[in-house]
Amino acid sequence: MKKQSLFLVIIFLFFAQNIFSQSVPQVRETKISGFNATSAETQKQLEIKFDANLNRENIGKNIKNLSAKPHALGSPGSKENAGYILAQYKSFGWDAKIETFKVLFPSPKTRVLEMIAPTSYKALLKEPALKEDATSGQADQLPTYNAWSADGDVTGDVVFVNYGLPADYEELAKMGIDVKGKIAIAKYGRSWRGIKPKVAQEHGAIGCIIYSDPKDDGYGAGDVYPKGAFKSEYGVQRGSVMDMVIYPGDPLTPGIGATEDAKRLDRLKATNLIKIPVLPISYHDAKPLLEALDGPVAPADWRGGLPITYHVGPGKTKVHLQLAFDWKLVSCYDVIAMMKGSQYPDEWVLRGNHHDAWVNGASDPISGQAAMLEEAKSIGELVKTGWRPKRTLVYCSWDGEEPGLIGSTEWAETHADELQKKAVVYINSDGSGRGFLGAGGSHALETLVDEVAKDVTDPQTKVTVYERRKAETITSASTTKAKKDALAKNTLQLDALGSGSDFSVFLQHLAVPSLDLGYGGENNGGEYHSIYDSYDNYVRFKDPGFYYGVTLSQTAGRAALRMANADLLPFDFRHLYTTVNDYTKETIDLLQQTKENTEIENQLIKTNAYVLATDPTKTFIVQKAQDEVPYLDFSPLQNALIALQKSSDSLSKIWERAVKINSDHVALNKSLYQAEQQLLTTTGLPRRGWYKHALYAPGFYTGYGVKTLPGIREAIEQRNWKEAQEQINIDAQAINKLSNYLMNIADRNQ
Ligand SMILES: [Zn+2]
Repeated sequence: MKKQSLFLVIIFLFFAQNIFSQSVPQVRETKISGFNATSAETQKQLEIKFDANLNRENIGKNIKNLSAKPHALGSPGSKENAGYILAQYKSFGWDAKIETFKVLFPSPKTRVLEMIAPTSYKALLKEPALKEDATSGQADQLPTYNAWSADGDVTGDVVFVNYGLPADYEELAKMGIDVKGKIAIAKYGRSWRGIKPKVAQEHGAIGCIIYSDPKDDGYGAGDVYPKGAFKSEYGVQRGSVMDMVIYPGDPLTPGIGATEDAKRLDRLKATNLIKIPVLPISYHDAKPLLEALDGPVAPADWRGGLPITYHVGPGKTKVHLQLAFDWKLVSCYDVIAMMKGSQYPDEWVLRGNHHDAWVNGASDPISGQAAMLEEAKSIGELVKTGWRPKRTLVYCSWDGEEPGLIGSTEWAETHADELQKKAVVYINSDGSGRGFLGAGGSHALETLVDEVAKDVTDPQTKVTVYERRKAETITSASTTKAKKDALAKNTLQLDALGSGSDFSVFLQHLAVPSLDLGYGGENNGGEYHSIYDSYDNYVRFKDPGFYYGVTLSQTAGRAALRMANADLLPFDFRHLYTTVNDYTKETIDLLQQTKENTEIENQLIKTNAYVLATDPTKTFIVQKAQDEVPYLDFSPLQNALIALQKSSDSLSKIWERAVKINSDHVALNKSLYQAEQQLLTTTGLPRRGWYKHALYAPGFYTGYGVKTLPGIREAIEQRNWKEAQEQINIDAQAINKLSNYLMNIADRNQ
């Protein structure tokens, strides 16, 4: 290891010398935001050594070891993996321990799905072992199911509801079809899975079946496993249907840590649990049910890839769905490893990835976990040479992410006060593979991620991961204007974060500045949450050679090390201003669009246009005219943005000056990393107060998909005009609070 790093340093110095002698005959300045010229150079040297310690074979070995057995929350495999990870951190020289929580986790006792009319068919509900996949025949796999489905024994007619989203039910209503007292069958895709049973339940369904249509991730998308990566006819996507958009984590302990003696809710009172039975199935099991449906032919864009004519139903098809679960408390093992900071031990740079999987989970989550362990190993090597991070690094391997972000949520709820005092940043990753950098998070950290992306090399093309991502963004843009805009942009733009991984509690509940990083886009397939997310699959289709495992370590590790060592933390709130300004324009547009759509729709209804345009032999139910859309007063928000622009500009001038001064900046740094907490609202979002961030939340009807300025946007979408106005005022208040806070920092540091 050491020899290799020395070699790289020499190579680097050689090239640096060359560049130096050919260009400006002055002191070469390495620029990293938040570092003065000297410390930036030291940091660059550190990163070269950090990279040299990363080893792709070792990442591959850890992926193999940690995916060797099924390791869902509460299983012996999860406990074993937590022990393995703990031993690794300790062997790297970290101060590591396991924090255990007691959390609810249902596992299936009874699973029956059968068609009893017009013909009979008993669903297999089983993914077969494959000789090409060594772990696919293991005994202790969790069966195919949706965690948090209710117990239930129901028999009823079946209705095909497309992707099961609110707009699909509007289409059904026009056809005169409803799901009341019936069982809805929905396709996976277009939204987080938990939205489908939730919307079915809202419309009176007594059960919900979710299947994977071959058009989406089966033979319609590519060759199926094991020939290719896509879903075979028996593949099933497991997954949680907890209503995480109400609150994630253990359903029995909202807002508090699920410690041994925590006060627990009665399960039937948990507001994030569904009341109807829900079951995921393969397209092999879905085909007989769909084929037997009567009723109108499904609209063209509802039809999938099965060789049948898709009907909406109902008809003679009757289905019996019976599910029962063991609702037990299990142990949730979070592995927490610390490397104490030499100068600011009470400032924490957090890095996390979950370790639990639905089954073997080589891709989700072990690929990210192995990259994170490799970072910890490399940092351990650096510490052995006498170096230490200035701030404390906290590496977290979470359990229980799959059922509902349980390990991270319970840990962060337990340590909430300490985190709001000490947490400088939380950097998340999850399953990762070959392709392009994906980066989302707190927009004040855009410069940090931009600079990191321009310093990491893409292993396939040898350009920077920034350039590769930019090329992909430009070429895949759908309009000429979008292409032009993407071409003109020379900095990386962070996506906004919704949900679906462990950053949620840090960002949306505590407003700890957060990032989510990963690689993908060339690793597509149909293995997600099935027994085929295995090592054998991973090495063929996800990241052969584990090159992107190293790239992820370089990316997330650099971000962590720069935040740990920065003289002045690289928060730039001007990016936050620009982003929120765009979001505000979007919500104003949304209102205007809704207004125009409503006017046109109401006119079409009034003039009978829909009826006249419909084939008279088919049913068309005319919907009621909708209420008029009022104008809302966005001025509080617009004024708050003007103030934010001024304060973020003033602060950035102070920041630019301060970073050049050799000082420890303790007070200023603390103010910077705690600033995002100003965006927490006191009440949280309407009907889901756990989500307190004014800017980012998972959508009530999109799940993982983000809603920015969620209170305003969702009130408009739900046509709740009074609430929309209230939310404009609440968000304006939060933004004003932030700009006063930033202005105060600027004034104090004049
Ligand atoms: Zn995951």
